[in-house]
Amino acid sequence: MTTGLIFDIKKFAINDGPGIRLTVFFKGCNLACKWCHNPESISPKVQKMYNAKKCIGAVKCIENCPNDALKMTSEGIVTDYNICNLCGKCAEVCPTKAFEMLGSEIPISELMKKIDNEAIFFDQSGGGVTFSGGEPLMHADYLIEALKECGKRMYHRVVDTTAFAKLETVLEVAKHTELFLIDLKVMDSAKHKEFTAVGNEKILSNIMELAKTNCEIIFRIPLIKGVNTSEENIRETAIFINSLEGNRKAINLLPCHNIAENKHMKLGNLTKSNVFEAPSNIETEKIISIFENFGITATVGG
Ligand code: SF4
Ligand code: SF4
Repeated sequence: MTTGLIFDIKKFAINDGPGIRLTVFFKGCNLACKWCHNPESISPKVQKMYNAKKCIGAVKCIENCPNDALKMTSEGIVTDYNICNLCGKCAEVCPTKAFEMLGSEIPISELMKKIDNEAIFFDQSGGGVTFSGGEPLMHADYLIEALKECGKRMYHRVVDTTAFAKLETVLEVAKHTELFLIDLKVMDSAKHKEFTAVGNEKILSNIMELAKTNCEIIFRIPLIKGVNTSEENIRETAIFINSLEGNRKAINLLPCHNIAENKHMKLGNLTKSNVFEAPSNIETEKIISIFENFGITATVGG
């Protein structure tokens, strides 16, 4: 039985492709962007999150832990991860959801039931299913199986990805996908590596090959001041997009914000982000006009 590690399934999503969508978030990403809004999606393993603000000291978690891994301290409940086996029993009994488990293995049949339940909204809105993450291409076998099942039912399929995977995987997924949403982060590879942990050579070459297929691609560019908002980077991004085969003239700009800071803290600060700023409205307008000069329509949001 094929299962996939999924950390969330969002109904009525309206920013992950056309119409009303069901978005499936895979857990595990081979990048580690310092501004990541879903830091809980980066580890490819089940994790446990603790929110001290929600904890009312009911200690049911301590009583229910089979491994004696929890201790009450002045800062709330502390887990000894040397002995915690992530069984999730503490989260099951927590009355306020101060403990939450992140990620569960879901068989394809169960996933398809959840997707089928939303099909009525796809039909009415021109929507469908979006596979996001984390990085969906890290779960290629499961992803392809789910895409094929969605294809049999004529659901519109979107894959939201960094394109950082083996080229064969990208091209196989493309056979079962109508639209790719691809993050283009920063064009200089050394800077890409500094901020995301990997260089971008493979990403750019995969995108060039993907553009030769019939798949629609929408690029999404997170705008992060000091990382990718310089005129030089925007020009290089536009030149790259214009070099691709097919009509790739629409992109989405996503000004970065720091909503994930709290999540980084709840994960125990292990992946604490830096503070990142979005460009001002004036700077964003300038970026839009640079893209316009290259014949590319850039829209904020999407
Ligand atoms: S690619 Fe996306 S999910 Fe992965 S670390 Fe970067 S922002 Fe987070
Ligand atoms: S996940 Fe299981 S082992 Fe870990 S603290 Fe909770 S109950 Fe104990």
